Amino acid sequence: MLYQSFLIKYAEIGTKGKNRYLFEDALMKQIRHAIREVDGDFSVAKETGRIYVRAKGDYDYEDLINALKRVFGIAWICPMFQTENRDFENLKKEVVDYIGQVYPDRRLTFKVDSRRADKKYPLTSEEMNRELGEVLLNAYPEMKVDVHHPQIMVRVEVRTMVNIYSQMIPGPGGMPVGTNGKAMLLLSGGIDSPVAGYMIAKRGVRIEAVYFHAPPYTSERAKQKVVDLATLVARYSGPIRLHIVNFTDIQLYIYEQCPHEELTIIMRRYMMRIAQSIAQETECLALITGESIGQVASQTVQSLAATNQVCDMPVFRPVIGFDKQEIVDIAEKINTYETSIQPYEDCCTIFVAKHPVTKPNVKVIRHSEEKLAEKIGLMVKTAIEGRETVMCW
Ligand code: ATP
Ligand code: MG
Repeated sequence: MLYQSFLIKYAEIGTKGKNRYLFEDALMKQIRHAIREVDGDFSVAKETGRIYVRAKGDYDYEDLINALKRVFGIAWICPMFQTENRDFENLKKEVVDYIGQVYPDRRLTFKVDSRRADKKYPLTSEEMNRELGEVLLNAYPEMKVDVHHPQIMVRVEVRTMVNIYSQMIPGPGGMPVGTNGKAMLLLSGGIDSPVAGYMIAKRGVRIEAVYFHAPPYTSERAKQKVVDLATLVARYSGPIRLHIVNFTDIQLYIYEQCPHEELTIIMRRYMMRIAQSIAQETECLALITGESIGQVASQTVQSLAATNQVCDMPVFRPVIGFDKQEIVDIAEKINTYETSIQPYEDCCTIFVAKHPVTKPNVKVIRHSEEKLAEKIGLMVKTAIEGRETVMCW
C-alpha cells in the first residue's frame, strides 16, 4: 500500500476555543463510524491537535477515501508518508522517496513548504525548504521549482513525527454530527426531505426521522423505500432512528369531516403536531422538512404559514429557497435520488383534492379542524403510541 497514514484537516471546528476537544472527539467518533464498513484495520487518533487515520496492513484505498468524504467536519483528507525518525538526513531520503512513489511522471513544478511545531529542531523552516528543494532537484532533474504557482506543494511538518504530503482531497465540510443537538426530520419518500436531512446533519445536528404511512393505501414497499432513504442519509449523519406512524385513521377522519380542498393543509398540520410531539419525547429541539416555496399547493407562503402555525419548535427548512433542480443536484450527489424516484404511492397524494386551497386562511382552517374535536385527540395519541421504530444505518 502506498499510504498507511492520513492527516485529517478540519475547518470550522478549529475555531471553537475551549470546546474544541468536544468537536474533535465528535469528529473522531464519526470517522470511526464511517470507516467501519471499509475493508482493513484502522486506528483514529488525536495527537497534538491533529487527527490521524492510520491503516494497519492492507486496506481498500478507494473505499476509505469515499467513507471519509462522507464525514461532516472534514475539510481535507491528506494521504501522507509519516516517519518517526526526525533526523534531517532521514527526512531528505523520505521526501525523495515520497515524490518517487507518488509522482511517477515528475515533469512537474513544485515548492516545499516546511513547518516545525518543535522550534528546537536544528533547522529553521526556511532552511528546510531550501535544502529539501535542492535534494529534490538533484534526485529528479526533470522537476522545476515554482514558488508562485507550483503544480505540487510538498508539505513537510515536523511534529512528534514527520508528516510529508502534497495531495489534499476535499471532504464535505460542515461540522461533526453530535455537536449541535438533535432534530426530527419529516421524511417522506420524495426527493426533498432526504436532502433536507443531509443539509441539517451537515451542520452537526443529529437526526431522528418520522414517516407517516397510510396502509393499505400506501404499501409495505413504500415504507421500505423510506427505510432505504433513511439508511442512505445515515451514511452521512450516523444512525437514524425512524419512527413510522400509522396515519390512515387520521387521514380518513379528516377526509370525512373537512372540506376536501383543505385536506392537504389540515393533514400537514397534523403531521407537524405529531412530529413535534415525538420530537419532544425524544429530546429533539427542532423539526426539519423538505419544503420549498411554491413547489406545490401546500408550499405556497400562505400554506407554509398555516402549517407552521401549529408548531412551537423551530422548523428548519433548508431547501426553502432552492429550485427543484438544485435539490435534485444534491440528491444525486448524496446518492438518494435513484431511490427517491422509485414510483411508490405517497400518503399525501391519495386523498388529494382536485383543487386544493393555495391561500388557506388560518381562521377558516381552524374552524374546519373543530369538526375533528370528538375523536382526533385519541386518534393522535393512538398513532403516536402505536408507532413502530426502526434503527437505520
Ligand atoms: P418530498 O420530496 O420531501 O416528499 P414533496 O415535494 O413531495 O417533498 P410534500 O409532499 O408537500 O412535498 O411534503 C413536504 C414535506 O413534508 C416533505 O419534504 C417532508 O418533510 C414532509 N412530508 C410529506 N409527506 C410526508 C410523510 N408521508 N411522512 C413524513 N413527512 C412527510
Ligand atoms: Mg412528498
